[in-house]
Amino acid sequence: MDPHTPLSEILATTPRHLKSLTEIGIRTVGDLLNYFPRTHSDFSQLCKISEVIPNETNTVVGKIQKLRVFRTPRGKTLVTAKLVSDEGELELIWFNQTFITRILRNDDEIAISGKIQISRSGKHSLVGGSFEKISDEMLHAGRIIPIYRSHGKLISSKWLREKIYPLLPFAKKLPQPLPFEIVAREKLLPLGEAIRQIHFPESFEKLERARESLAFEELFFLQLGGLLRKLDWRRGAAGSGKKIPHSPELLAEFAAKIPFKFTRAQKISSAEILADLKKDLPMNRLLEGDVGSGKTVVAALAIFLTAKAACQTSQAACQTSQAIHQTSQAACQAALLAPTEILAAQHFRNFLKILHPLGVRGELLTGSTPAKKKREISAKLKSGELDLVVGTHALLESRVEFHNLALAVIDEQHRFGVEQRILIKKNSTPHILSLTATPIPRTLALTIFGDQDVSIIDELPPGRKPAITRIIPPKKREEAYRWIESEVQKGRQVFVVCPLVEESEVLEVKSAKKEFKRLSEEVFPNLKLGLLHGKLRPKEKDAAMAAFAAGETQILVATTVIEVGIDIPNATIMLIEAAERFGLAQLHQLRGRVGRGEAQSYCFLFSESESEEVRTRLHAMENISSGFELAKMDLKLRGPGEVFGVRQSGIPDLKVAKLTDHELIKKSRAAAEKILDNDPTLENHPQILERLERVEIMNEK
Ligand code: ADP
Ligand code: MG
Repeated sequence: MDPHTPLSEILATTPRHLKSLTEIGIRTVGDLLNYFPRTHSDFSQLCKISEVIPNETNTVVGKIQKLRVFRTPRGKTLVTAKLVSDEGELELIWFNQTFITRILRNDDEIAISGKIQISRSGKHSLVGGSFEKISDEMLHAGRIIPIYRSHGKLISSKWLREKIYPLLPFAKKLPQPLPFEIVAREKLLPLGEAIRQIHFPESFEKLERARESLAFEELFFLQLGGLLRKLDWRRGAAGSGKKIPHSPELLAEFAAKIPFKFTRAQKISSAEILADLKKDLPMNRLLEGDVGSGKTVVAALAIFLTAKAACQTSQAACQTSQAIHQTSQAACQAALLAPTEILAAQHFRNFLKILHPLGVRGELLTGSTPAKKKREISAKLKSGELDLVVGTHALLESRVEFHNLALAVIDEQHRFGVEQRILIKKNSTPHILSLTATPIPRTLALTIFGDQDVSIIDELPPGRKPAITRIIPPKKREEAYRWIESEVQKGRQVFVVCPLVEESEVLEVKSAKKEFKRLSEEVFPNLKLGLLHGKLRPKEKDAAMAAFAAGETQILVATTVIEVGIDIPNATIMLIEAAERFGLAQLHQLRGRVGRGEAQSYCFLFSESESEEVRTRLHAMENISSGFELAKMDLKLRGPGEVFGVRQSGIPDLKVAKLTDHELIKKSRAAAEKILDNDPTLENHPQILERLERVEIMNEK
């Protein structure tokens, strides 16, 4: 028997169980051994009910009695029960987990671990514990027990435990995909041993080493894949990029048109970008910087240089033999993509302010551009009469052809899908510059974004003061309004963001309209208010933004359409209704709409929620102003997958590794780089190639 042996030949079980296993991709011995536990329970150290230690995690065993569910006056649901054994009894409590009453019955024997809390009256209760019903095997084992993700009715954690345990001896035969020298150098457990220990660990130390070894392997292959793609792409794309030169004169010409000096970080990032643009290898770079750090102007510089360049495409140079020494001088074009119409329009206005006087010819193309105008723009892009087009998704979808697209800038790139990035590259190989405020450390960005280079703007323009952020409970609402009114009278402007209505733009718009009416008539009858939402016609949106930008309206009531990119430096107050409905990333983006000038800015989080989790999140907003720190917080609160829209950025699902494993990420990347340095095609490492191919196939599924 070996790891490829089908389970049907070796497991004593029913065809229905086998079928259920194939649904989660488990067919062979190797597959089953690679189905790792979700977590472990420590039944090696059971504790007596009478001896639980407060404020620590304890595992206790007993029988369920008096299982009840009820609602508290504040609308929470509460499940309670008594855990009874010979040694005494303990109260169990779960908040908002009514499903527990479907899993547990009175008289069930369970083992449960969780924190013990003491009430004011001195009573012990175990709150929010995770539990498992007891089987004989578990109790006899008296050890650290693996808990597996169950599947359907048949494949339970207990069932998996029983089937996996006898297979462990075969773990030795699994092919070791990591080269021996890496295993030795990094002091990893051999694969077989790591697999045994991740299932049935002898101790928590062994478990941790097993986890580290397997995580190392996982990260190694993830990064190796990214590096290989990058190498491959470099080989394929080399020579196809348009060289975009720069000169001190051009840079000075640009600098003269902007009203400030670049920050140190903007200078460094620009230098990295300009160095890429000069090459005939198409750039693929991510520019990362917190909200308000000034990414746009860096992109504007790249666009300016592109428009000024008469690119020398090597393709053209190779066309015919006579042409070899002739360089074809084609004007270069740039495209700028933004995720919303409002942002595209703003970019268009601002870019033209700087770039038009410098001779750059640009147009705006969005979903609402009339068909006739679209055709006109299309024709001009094709003939080369335009240097720049600013647009939304519509630009990609309307299949415009370019005369010579040399640079594509994608603002808020996490809002765009992979397909859209592919569309950009379909007919040409422009330099690609992606902008994002997703604040992740460089090593992590390199891991996640695999084939992109990364530049980071890690400082804000000088003189920025962090927004003062306050949670406003219902009884302080009126006071806050009066304070806002007095600020407006001093010349300040205000955003009011209406509650997020998931999945329903119609409802969201409705609530914004209602709020606009209420605020205009009842709260601020003496002020001028504007309304902005996704269902307005483009002209109306433009008018609303323009009036606010010009200071004609003082308060802009809006839906989340203003979340990204909007830049109105005179607006200093951001009021967010039902703040609990937003995640940290979104709150931070919204708050980023103010504090863009030198004046002190404010962010008010209106919330009626009393939930612990919401409090923690909103308090984090009060105390933390850096997106980077908030991301760390988010990581702790929600786990890496959810962080700041990282999932949307195409982050892979990791089995064992965590994206917080900075050390492991670094080490495994270094190891992957070293292998590729010595063996760029991996021909001397067939076992690595084989494993990579398996991963690719799985990813395609
Ligand atoms: P983001 O990085 O969030 O896209 P923006 O590019 O919109 O930020 O820039 C935010 C604001 O900061 C804009 O009003 C911009 O004009 C201004 N800004 C950018 N760079 C500087 C700088 N070096 N000094 C002063 N203000 C700057
Ligand atoms: Mg921006």
